[in-house]
Amino acid sequence: MAHTDGIRIHPDVDHGVKQGSSGFSGGTLTCHCASNPVKVRVGGQTAHNHVCGCTRCWKPDGATFSQVAVVSRDAVEVLENGDKLEVVDESAAIQRHRCRECGVHMYGRIENKDHPFYGLDFIHTELSDEDGWSAPEFAAFVSSVIESGVDPSRMDAIRARLRELGLEPYDALSPPLMDAIATHVAKRSGALPA
Ligand SMILES: [Zn+2]
Ligand SMILES: [Zn+2]
Repeated sequence: MAHTDGIRIHPDVDHGVKQGSSGFSGGTLTCHCASNPVKVRVGGQTAHNHVCGCTRCWKPDGATFSQVAVVSRDAVEVLENGDKLEVVDESAAIQRHRCRECGVHMYGRIENKDHPFYGLDFIHTELSDEDGWSAPEFAAFVSSVIESGVDPSRMDAIRARLRELGLEPYDALSPPLMDAIATHVAKRSGALPA
């Protein structure tokens, strides 16, 4: 068993995963700018919340993983200072809209209607003051933290810590999400009935 003391995953889970509340109906995300912050209203509960080790999701300072969830794109509305938003990479499947001043990603949107996750926006619920967002359920793209400079020798301890927190580590997405993507592909190709 790897020694997990001092392993930091993300500030929102390092002291234990907080459970969501069933009646929760959303909140407002605010970027880190001290003045004129970007505010985004999310009018619904999130799903598939998880920590992510990829190098593209936004992470707070010092975090090894990001924390990211999805919500219907219809539920996402920019309330204030939307003129400060820019798309990080127009060619990426997920267009991450960040504040050009503080760098915080406010929402990631998929514009390709054929994408398996079209219709869902990706958000970081830690940007909201409200409690009750759905709890993170698993850890995605765990091996990818090495790409941001984590020493490979620490991976056993990182995976052990994730399991200790109840966040099963996967090196892609979770099996249900990988199955959903493959089902979408199979229906488009005709390998499965549409
Ligand atoms: Zn900002
Ligand atoms: Zn990610």
